[in-house]
Amino acid sequence: MPDTERAYTLTFRAPVGVFTGLCIAGLGDRTVVRDVDGVPWIPGSTVKGRLRFFAERLLLSGVDVDPLRYHGIANPHCKSLSEACTLCRLFGNPSLPALLRVGQASLGEPWRTLVQSLLVEDRNPVVRPDVEIRPGIALSRRRRSALPDHLFLDEAVPAGLRFEGKILLSDGIRPEEDAFLRGTGRLVDALGARKAAGRGALESGIHIGEAA
Ligand SMILES: [Zn+2]
Repeated sequence: MPDTERAYTLTFRAPVGVFTGLCIAGLGDRTVVRDVDGVPWIPGSTVKGRLRFFAERLLLSGVDVDPLRYHGIANPHCKSLSEACTLCRLFGNPSLPALLRVGQASLGEPWRTLVQSLLVEDRNPVVRPDVEIRPGIALSRRRRSALPDHLFLDEAVPAGLRFEGKILLSDGIRPEEDAFLRGTGRLVDALGARKAAGRGALESGIHIGEAA
C-alpha cells in the first residue's frame, strides 16, 4: 500500500509569526520565514512540533482506545516499531523513523497571488506589504519587570489568512492512529512565536482532511 496523503489547513484568527532566527537590515527585529518568491510560509517542523506536543498531552491524559498508548514521560524511547507506543510511531524518536511526515504550509489563495503582485512592484520594501510590525518587550523572569533596552519589533502575518500543506502517512499507520492524529490537530490552539500573548491563534486547530 502506498503512503496516504492528507491535506491540512491553518486559518489564523490572530497575527502569526514563525521566525527565521536571522536578523536583517530593516524595521523588524524578527522576520517571518519566506519562500524563494518572498511569500511567508510555515515550516513543516513547526506544525509537526505542535502536533507532537498536543498528542503527548492527550496520551498522558489517558486515551482509552486500543492500540493507542504512550511509553510515558520518564521512560526511555521505544526501540522497535512493532512494539512502539503511538507517540514514537507517529513522530519517531532517535531510533525509530516517524510514520508521519509534515510538509510546509504555504500561503493559500487569493493571498498568495496578491502578495506576489505587491512584491513585484517593490522587491525590497522597508515594511513588507504582507506583514504588520508588532512591538514587544522582554521581561525579566526574576524581577518580573521589563528589561531595559529590550523593546523589539516583530513581523507578523495578519489575522484571517489561510495556509495549506500536506501530511504524508506511511503505509504502516493504523486507522486508530490516523483518527487520533486528526483529533489531535483539532486541539492545537496556536502556532508560532509569542503564543502566550495571543499570537498565532488558530480558528479550528490544524485541520487535517479525510483521505483523498
Ligand atoms: Zn514510545
